[in-house]
Amino acid sequence: MNEFDTLWIWQETDLRGRLSWYRQVATNRMPAKFRIAQSIPIPLALQEEPEETLWKALEEKTAHFLALWDRCRRGVSNRFPVSPPRPNLLDLCRELSLRMLQHCNFCRWHCRVDRSRGTKLGTCKLADESRVSSYFHHPGEELIYRGRYGSGTIFFTSCNMRCAFCQNGDISTDKENGQPVSPRTLATMAWLLRMEGCHNINWVGGEPTIHLHTIVEAIALLSELQPTDEDIRAALQVKSDYGLRFSLRRDHGLYHGGFNAPMLWNSNFFMSVPAMKILRLLMDVWLPDFKFGPGECAVALSRTPWYWQTVTDNLKLIHDWGEDFTIRHLIMPNHVECCTRPILRWIAHTMPDVPVNIMDQYHPDNFCDPASSKYRPQYAAIARRPTAREIDQAFRYAHELGLRFAALSYETSTTL
Ligand code: SF4
Repeated sequence: MNEFDTLWIWQETDLRGRLSWYRQVATNRMPAKFRIAQSIPIPLALQEEPEETLWKALEEKTAHFLALWDRCRRGVSNRFPVSPPRPNLLDLCRELSLRMLQHCNFCRWHCRVDRSRGTKLGTCKLADESRVSSYFHHPGEELIYRGRYGSGTIFFTSCNMRCAFCQNGDISTDKENGQPVSPRTLATMAWLLRMEGCHNINWVGGEPTIHLHTIVEAIALLSELQPTDEDIRAALQVKSDYGLRFSLRRDHGLYHGGFNAPMLWNSNFFMSVPAMKILRLLMDVWLPDFKFGPGECAVALSRTPWYWQTVTDNLKLIHDWGEDFTIRHLIMPNHVECCTRPILRWIAHTMPDVPVNIMDQYHPDNFCDPASSKYRPQYAAIARRPTAREIDQAFRYAHELGLRFAALSYETSTTL
């Protein structure tokens, strides 16, 4: 894990300072936040309490968690039990996510359908089942995430947005894609990735938010997980780099004897505030995707209302909370004026200290690809790659605004 610590990119002071927690968890010098949450007992019979009581307890214990996290960061307290007290704060998060599933408000759609019964579906069209399309050591994420052995990326099926240009359309639009997973199988996938050397567990999709209940339950299993042969067989079915040889070493992901890995939330950030409150206790680093400006583009291209307000509110939350994160923005053709410029301006004004990856690799896909039978002429304006001029405009503007974008945006073609 020291090889991760000595990556040249950590010489960039902007990144080193902004991601210090993530880096320490990645190298097992600090426990992941879920380990801290698990050390906090909750004196309630969780399944018997009304939801309101559980939220009140979450609020109270979050203050306790933050004090403990702070002590941990300052090196005052750093021992957390492998066998946690029960029930604990992570059990409370698990119970709350199951309650939310019964009137689903995981994301801003607030569909209020009971996904545990599945008789009526919301915008994501999911009941309680979660499916994983594939998972592997991702070699293409930013260097701070892919490191030397890859980002441990788990791709969930389905989404709560409808991006016409989706670059993962096969996963996000086909809810039958992949394999159904139990929380234990999901935990085994995360365990395998980490013990094979991945630097983080990268929850992504589609969109991970719509699978909140399964993810929280899987994380709750991790600290004591000892996968059986049967668990590993079940988990290997959709491991797309299974044919590659990775040496599995238990010390890759251990902190004081229990499983350890930074949890990375790689999301469209269209989550609800209650979901954010749960994730705050579990995620060590966040990777929000900021796509659309404040106009009508989110509705026109993704059929998503309330986009700007929701995403900017959630970004402000994690910034106010002092979380480790970087932002991604994809330059889209004919959307520099309406999307790229207002987004970069907002970041410069609201959180100029946050590193941004401005990405130029957009290509027409899904309903925007003229070569595809799915193509719809209404998306003609984004049915091409961005021009060199558009890309140049975006980078120049970021430079004028003084954004911290160069380290993340320019490193992708360099070697490790
Ligand atoms: S996850 Fe979002 S889109 Fe899906 S049912 Fe819940 S609130 Fe609706």
